[in-house]
Amino acid sequence: TIKLAARVQAVKPSATLAITARAKALRAAGKDVIGLGAGEPDFDTPEHIKTAAIEAIRSGFTKYTAVDGTPELKQAIIDKFKRENGLEYQDDQILVSCGGKQSFFNLAQAILDPGDEVVIPAPFWVSYPDMVLLAGGAPVLVHAGAEQSFKITPAQLKGALNDKTRLVVINSPSNPTGMAYTREELEAIGEVLRDYPKVVIATDDMYEHIRWSDAPFVNIANACPDLMPRIMVLNGVSKAYSMTGWRIGYAGGPAEVIKAMKKVQSQSTSNPTSISQVAAQAALEGPQACIGDMLKAFRERHDYVVERLNQMPGIECIPTDGTFYVFPKVQGLIDRLDGVGNDLELAEYLIEKAGVALVPGSAFGLGGHVRISIATSRASLEQALDRIAKVAG
Ligand code: PLP
Repeated sequence: TIKLAARVQAVKPSATLAITARAKALRAAGKDVIGLGAGEPDFDTPEHIKTAAIEAIRSGFTKYTAVDGTPELKQAIIDKFKRENGLEYQDDQILVSCGGKQSFFNLAQAILDPGDEVVIPAPFWVSYPDMVLLAGGAPVLVHAGAEQSFKITPAQLKGALNDKTRLVVINSPSNPTGMAYTREELEAIGEVLRDYPKVVIATDDMYEHIRWSDAPFVNIANACPDLMPRIMVLNGVSKAYSMTGWRIGYAGGPAEVIKAMKKVQSQSTSNPTSISQVAAQAALEGPQACIGDMLKAFRERHDYVVERLNQMPGIECIPTDGTFYVFPKVQGLIDRLDGVGNDLELAEYLIEKAGVALVPGSAFGLGGHVRISIATSRASLEQALDRIAKVAG
């Protein structure tokens, strides 16, 4: 047998990708399984974005670009940050990467040394802790249950910070909980962070556009402008424009950090795909109505799914602020079902007995819950909920 590196053995494959693959395999084997595990919109990439990419291929825009992205895409990102977020960036403060995932990966590689601590609110996006581990850092989880709307308090944050803390991650609206921090909550978090000047703050705004409220989006850079010199804003086109397969994410932040992240990227992937960069530029600069259409569908499905789930004994689902996930507490159901002892076993049970695939909350750092993706047709959702209702009795 071939010896594998310790850092690889310290991490696990993405649980959400695993459940999606499992549902696919069962379907291929002829089993009727409805997949509610997916972390991507069920809509096609808008036509004008695809057209821009096709033209890029035709015109031969198929070679290496600058590592940090084409000047045109970087300008589109700078304009986006200004227009939508009121944030000002220079060219050397922007890095385009192969998906939001690589943006965070680069950040972890750029700033973490062995033993450095990273504060991650739980439930968390599955990849944060493992990407921190791969960089040699130590994830410090701060737990927030449904009773506090899955959001950490300033006091909890204070309790988790110390001399070894290098990074704090805020993901709002959150995958998997769908909850967003208010401006006041972000101000209070910023107030705590003012006492820790060496801590970098990452705000992952990937779900910025998938929110129900009409109020403008707010992140910690908006709430606490004085902290800008140590805030990394992470975003991308994957979710807002239904472009998960194109692999374009981007980061804005202090030039010294961006430069280090770019160095990491230059020795790993080089530039993100030239064609995808043209597509991302079209997404950011083109008509934004496509977002509204998706949003409307997500919102209707959200209202429907939350109402149905709350009618089932043993399931409690708080309404979300956005994203295409809901994160119901299912402990009551686990307690009632024979042979089911936790959320992992419940997910197994539902896939076997009900033909519904969803992701156990444990994968996101909170047992007794499951994540249901509403990024699937209304008809599939209705059928899936009928099936869950049947076993929930
Ligand atoms: N951040 C969060 C919170 C996410 O949920 C995801 C995708 O699931 C990403 C980042 C990464 O997105 P991408 O597909 O652009 O790598």
